[in-house]
This record gives sequence, C-alpha cells and structure tokens, in this order.
Amino acid sequence: MEDKLVCEKCGKETKRKSNRQRQCPRCRKKHQKEADIRKWTKYYQRNKEKVKNLAKKQKKALYELRRRHPTEYKSIYDKIR
Ligand SMILES: [Zn+2]
Repeated sequence: MEDKLVCEKCGKETKRKSNRQRQCPRCRKKHQKEADIRKWTKYYQRNKEKVKNLAKKQKKALYELRRRHPTEYKSIYDKIR
C-alpha cells in the first residue's frame, strides 16, 4: 500500500512517510531552514549584548552561526549590529 500526499506548499504529489506530514521533503527542508534562521535571528536579537561580548571574547556563538548558515550569517549579523 502506497500512501500519497499532496504538498500544502507546492501542490506536488509525494510519498507520505508519516501521518503528520503535510509537505514534500523539499518544502519541509526549506521550511526547517527558515525556522532555524528565525530562531537564530531571534536569539541574537534577544542577546545582543551577550553576543557582542562573545564576539569580542571568543566568538563561539558567531562561529556556530556561520558554520550552520554560512550564507545567512552575514545578513543576520548585519541585523544585530
Ligand atoms: Zn512541496
């Protein structure tokens, strides 16, 4: 038995892998990445001072951001400055 699913984002038909699945793998990945970026942006906006100090002292958090999202790193970093 093959269960199919129509992606709620792009309307493409894809194999259903779980009952909670609403999107095709491609849209899901994209959505996850966006959610991840939002999470990071929020964190850095909320912890501006902390991040500034980190940036001065060890830059660990920023390294982590850069490692995970090399392309988004710059735009996020510009926002929090
Ligand atoms: Zn899709």
